[in-house]
Amino acid sequence: MRTMLEKKKLLYKLFTFFLLFMLSLCTGCSLNTLGNVGNTLIEAASDVNIFTDAEELQFGQAFVAQHEQQIKLYTDPVVTNYINELGQSLVRHSKRKNIRYTFKVVDTKGVNAYAVPGGFIYVHLDLIRASKTESELAAVIGHEIGHIVGQHSMKRLTQVYGIEILKQLILDEDDSILKKVVAEVLAAGLLFRYSRDHERESDFYGVQNVYDAGINPEGAAVFFETLRAMRGREPSSLEKFLSTHPVPSERVLNVRKQISGLPPKSGLRTDSSRFQQIKRRIQ
Ligand SMILES: [Zn+2]
Repeated sequence: MRTMLEKKKLLYKLFTFFLLFMLSLCTGCSLNTLGNVGNTLIEAASDVNIFTDAEELQFGQAFVAQHEQQIKLYTDPVVTNYINELGQSLVRHSKRKNIRYTFKVVDTKGVNAYAVPGGFIYVHLDLIRASKTESELAAVIGHEIGHIVGQHSMKRLTQVYGIEILKQLILDEDDSILKKVVAEVLAAGLLFRYSRDHERESDFYGVQNVYDAGINPEGAAVFFETLRAMRGREPSSLEKFLSTHPVPSERVLNVRKQISGLPPKSGLRTDSSRFQQIKRRIQ
């Protein structure tokens, strides 16, 4: 049985598809107003989950195959197992746990973490080093899981390429065109350019996720302060992270507000000895 919300979502999807279909019949129309309506519709469509998990995974895998040729993965199992276990403990409490998540550690300079469609999350060693406690690191990973939950990158790609083109690319048996598009997306850094709304949504999912997983959500607010302190001390190490995750004061305020509204919960974990061991190991 579908819930009322699911029914509404389905109707909205069908409606959007119908409008886009009608609009596609009008390509070549030169009316400006039509163009404006089109943009609005595409924006509306960009906020609907239009890809199946399998399609998203297929895109993600094509992306990962090229992306991993450009980075240096860190393979010490003590560290990678830890990150995977921390990540999976969050996934279990996330709003999208029906897909398989893969967590990888990257040995490329700079504080960074990012998510690739299909459930691939990358954590830089420098991010682990910069986090003072486990709850700060968990907050960032929770935020990245939030981007997967919201399918933000797929929505961004839809905005750029359009639903039909993207669907065809993914479904096409000859994957050479998909590979070309992935290379283009990779070069333009398109996947990680989130809108303010998507950043806000990921922050929201992230805070709720760590809290639900029994980790102190304050880590999210503290991490913003850690970033601020680092920005003065070693700005170059933050360059990449801040270019994809700007921290306007609005984000800090929103996160603080959300945390203060969470019901009190005893036993929330701020740190762990295992995290501190990992930190010492990679110093
Ligand atoms: Zn983000």
